[in-house]
Amino acid sequence: MGCAIKPDSLGKWVLLITASLGSHVILDLIPHWERPSELTWVVADFLLGSIMAFLIIYISKIVIPVIVGALLGVIPDIEHKLVSYGLMEEKLFISHLQFFPHQDWNFPWGVLIQIVFLGATLLLCYYLGKR
Ligand SMILES: [Zn+2]
Repeated sequence: MGCAIKPDSLGKWVLLITASLGSHVILDLIPHWERPSELTWVVADFLLGSIMAFLIIYISKIVIPVIVGALLGVIPDIEHKLVSYGLMEEKLFISHLQFFPHQDWNFPWGVLIQIVFLGATLLLCYYLGKR
């Protein structure tokens, strides 16, 4: 979201924050592969996400909004761990609630759809960065 919305006013920052959290809901709607919860996969996921954010910053030349958008896009998933460690009683984020359609796809289709989405995001940020 950070490369799509270049915030230059309070209203656009509010839009960036809302759209970044909303992007998590949309991504939870798209069937995807849920990585295993072992530490190796968590670290790999974190590294891949960080590399993706750095690539977007590199191609769009937009720094702070991309970092804010990326962090707000992943922050809702923290509650999965908080609930599993008993630090939170129940999940609160809308796309993590029981009624919300959340489809997991196994390897390779769940991973392929994520790769296609990452590629499309990089392309979009490349073109938006040229504005
Ligand atoms: Zn989620």
